[in-house]
Amino acid sequence: MGRILIRFSEEQVSEPIASQIIIEYKVPMAILSAHINNKGGEILVEVPDTMQEQVVEAFRKRGVTTMVPKLIEVDSEKCFSCGTCIALCPVEAIKTDKDHTVQFDKEKCLGSTCSICVDACPARAIKSVKANGNENRDKKS
Ligand code: SF4
Ligand code: SF4
Repeated sequence: MGRILIRFSEEQVSEPIASQIIIEYKVPMAILSAHINNKGGEILVEVPDTMQEQVVEAFRKRGVTTMVPKLIEVDSEKCFSCGTCIALCPVEAIKTDKDHTVQFDKEKCLGSTCSICVDACPARAIKSVKANGNENRDKKS
């Protein structure tokens, strides 16, 4: 499954744009998080990998801003297992192994649309990476 962050302006938020795209492209779309009100906002959705580009293009054609979030990765050399990231993660996507090694659940993690753990880690051990593995420390792209 591929994730897409969709950002609606105040003018767009009252239009049924997402519903139209779901119906037109027959795409199953799971909403993972939503921060939206009548002034606009953003939703993070998950669609089948094979349809990700098509859905991005469909929103862009309608003037809606989209972003494909980066993933999160931990540098086990820098991590000292303090647990800060585990306590702060809003979706319980971080756990430790028996040997206290930090593990991310990539299915649960909201990626660079969240980045709470990236900012909170005192060792700067967590970074955003592109899906192809290139490092990128920018929180949002
Ligand atoms: S980026 Fe957010 S959701 Fe993902 S592991 Fe970090 S705190 Fe959890
Ligand atoms: S906050 Fe950083 S140092 Fe602490 S457990 Fe998480 S990754 Fe490791």
